[in-house]
Amino acid sequence: MHWSNWSGRITAEPTEIVRVSDEFEVVAAVRRAAEAGQPVRSLGAGHSHAPLVATSGFVLDTEALVGVLGVDADAREAVVRAGTRISALGAPLRAAGTALHNQGDIDTQAIAGAVATGTHGTGSTLRNFSASVIGARVVLDGGEVIDCDAASEPELFEVARLSLGAVGVVTELRVSVREAYKLEERMWLEPLDDVLDRIDELTRATRHFEFFWMPGSARAACKSLDETDAAPRYPLAEEGQRLAWSYDVLANERTDKHSEIEYSVPAEHGPACLRELRAMIERDFPDVGWPLEYRTVAADDLWISTASGRPTVTVSAHQGVDDDDEPLFRACEGIFRRYAGRPHWGKVHYQSGAELASLYPRWRDWWKVRDRFDPKGRFLTPYLEGLRE
Ligand SMILES: Cc1cc2nc3c(=O)[nH]c(=O)nc-3n(C[C@H](O)[C@H](O)[C@H](O)COP(=O)(O)OP(=O)(O)OC[C@H]3O[C@@H](n4cnc5c(N)ncnc54)[C@H](O)[C@@H]3O)c2cc1C
Repeated sequence: MHWSNWSGRITAEPTEIVRVSDEFEVVAAVRRAAEAGQPVRSLGAGHSHAPLVATSGFVLDTEALVGVLGVDADAREAVVRAGTRISALGAPLRAAGTALHNQGDIDTQAIAGAVATGTHGTGSTLRNFSASVIGARVVLDGGEVIDCDAASEPELFEVARLSLGAVGVVTELRVSVREAYKLEERMWLEPLDDVLDRIDELTRATRHFEFFWMPGSARAACKSLDETDAAPRYPLAEEGQRLAWSYDVLANERTDKHSEIEYSVPAEHGPACLRELRAMIERDFPDVGWPLEYRTVAADDLWISTASGRPTVTVSAHQGVDDDDEPLFRACEGIFRRYAGRPHWGKVHYQSGAELASLYPRWRDWWKVRDRFDPKGRFLTPYLEGLRE
């Protein structure tokens, strides 16, 4: 069988692609893979630029493992099936008076896929998807199903909420939500140097601030989103002018197929890091036709979250699917390394296990717990093994 990710740049020839629509089917597929001595990888929407899903074994496609199982507006929690696309969460959550705290640039990922890689949006007070998880239901090798949270099986919970798909198949997630809200969007151009000089003011001024810088330009394309009590405007305006329920403003179309590298650096180093990237790109890659994107993420306490223990700035660089992305990405990575940058788990990077261990004090603990719950390495691949110290 043939599998490829969203961009088409990552391909694999799995033994089987099994479409699962409920937990019984997940358990059966995991048991069948075990009998066949095959590894298992869970597939969300296939939007990762890193070869996380690629395997010669079983791919469990969760596209039909969907639905909102319950919303407790008072407790501000929702339980959702793992394969549910983020785009399918907005309306049912709002019907219960609730909403996700934040979202990324697009909403086509599966919630479990976004959680498994620490996917994030922008906003200096807002944490990533993994940090919003309160509980998870996981199918382990052998078919055992375990509910875990901070009180019950806390170590499995820690690994399951940013798992890289490497500890089992998540079938349900309990996530933190807030009251439903509307956002108003604003976009403007401003000299990049001015934006960097007043970045603290800009990130504090609105709930979500980010900017894009296109190589060759002296200006940054800035975007802010702020909560509003104004009446939502439908049909939705163009990007840059929307005023609507949060999920309709947070989601964007990103249809140009690309590959991407993204690093998280301590927030205080964001401007210096961006300036170095700009100088390097203008000197060595003047023809790059893709922007850098600059965002903020609040600190969390997850063992391997890129925002673990530090308020964070993320900077990403892109290349077209037909470009050789490695020269630019390696040059960017060289700069990110100088700022103790941590690579996005779902995007391109060239870090070794030893380097990752130096970036995360709990890296070995994560592997220890992973190994305890999956001693036969059912959910590992050579790529993932390569990340071990
Ligand atoms: C156009 C585009 C825009 C993007 N925008 C952003 C952004 O704004 N912010 C950001 O942080 N990232 C962004 N990303 C990266 C993307 O959010 C992550 O790579 C995310 O993991 C993709 O989700 P997915 O559902 O496609 O997961 P997949 O790529 O299918 O899988 C990702 C990981 O999740 C695991 N997984 C999936 N389902 C399960 C399950 N049920 N149980 C256990 N493990 C599971 C997989 O095994 C794999 O390890 C973007 C990517 C693209 C292509």
